[in-house]
Amino acid sequence: MMKALVLDEYGLKYKVNAPTPKMGAEDVLVRVEAVGICGTDIAIIKHTLEAPLPIIPGHEIAGIIEKVGAAVPSDIGALVGKRVTMEINTRICGTCFYCKSGMPTQCINRKALGIDINGGMAEFVTIHHSLIHLVPPKLTPEEATLIEPLAAALQTFEMMPIQDGDRSVVLIGDGKLALLILGVLVAFKKGFGESPFRGEIMMVGHHESKLEIARMLGADMTLNSSVLPERKLLKKVFAFTGEQGADVTIEATGNPRALNQAILITRARGNIGLKSTHGVSVPFNLTLAVVKELTLYTSRCGPFEKAIRLIQEIQEPFLKHLISGVYPLSKGKEAFKDLEYRRDALKYVLKP
Ligand SMILES: [Zn+2]
Ligand SMILES: [Zn+2]
Repeated sequence: MMKALVLDEYGLKYKVNAPTPKMGAEDVLVRVEAVGICGTDIAIIKHTLEAPLPIIPGHEIAGIIEKVGAAVPSDIGALVGKRVTMEINTRICGTCFYCKSGMPTQCINRKALGIDINGGMAEFVTIHHSLIHLVPPKLTPEEATLIEPLAAALQTFEMMPIQDGDRSVVLIGDGKLALLILGVLVAFKKGFGESPFRGEIMMVGHHESKLEIARMLGADMTLNSSVLPERKLLKKVFAFTGEQGADVTIEATGNPRALNQAILITRARGNIGLKSTHGVSVPFNLTLAVVKELTLYTSRCGPFEKAIRLIQEIQEPFLKHLISGVYPLSKGKEAFKDLEYRRDALKYVLKP
């Protein structure tokens, strides 16, 4: 038996007698130290994203390897007692088109942790040994829960690499993901991953407290769209980008209306990276996008190895600035409720 947050048709409940997960021969059992609350978890709890019930949510997990199955390779077996995080796409088949083409995160048989199968809002979670990653010692368990979303932030540029001539990037949004993408861009400017990017970064957001964090993390300019009429905002963006518009715009607001704003502020033949997964259909000015010959990129889950390398290479441990609440798992319900009302909140972390 273990403690866990369990979602059933009646809502989210803290249980002290949830069954401890069964471990397969190739699995490792991880004692969860910290688990982040993601927008996806909120969507599952609000039933706007379908999940099989009952389910234990949570996929941004840091914990200690407690034990390993009989068929786990000895180099992984040697990691018992070490802090790890884990990938979200589990039960990768290895035989489908995507697996064979080097795109395992798109495997048609994958099961997403905490979405399709039980996740980490619990004392223990089991996972296939190939999906764990050692956490760099400089990270706390709370910070380590941000490795998964940091990998998703990096994926923006796996799909849409920054080009040599790109001088300006405008990030629309000031939430967790937008700030993680900002952290990646700042690392690129310092040469991470042999990126050619040396341009300027602007963040357009709604919350002064989050924009302040953005400036601290290295944004060259921030605009608060809640106090600027759209016409003035566009004028400022164009002034920032040498009057032609942004070479690259990244839309990470979670707001369906932001796509049109992205199309307006991007220069002709520029790129737009889309990260919002708000789940609603979006009408947008396709004609303007066609006339400007824009390219729209999308991206989802990203490379953990690269995210961990980024953490190891940068001096400033910027992840700590993104954590705005730590709750015991037993207060998980309160954490979800609080998160709904605190507009300035970034990442909330639960600790079993
Ligand atoms: Zn997530
Ligand atoms: Zn597959």
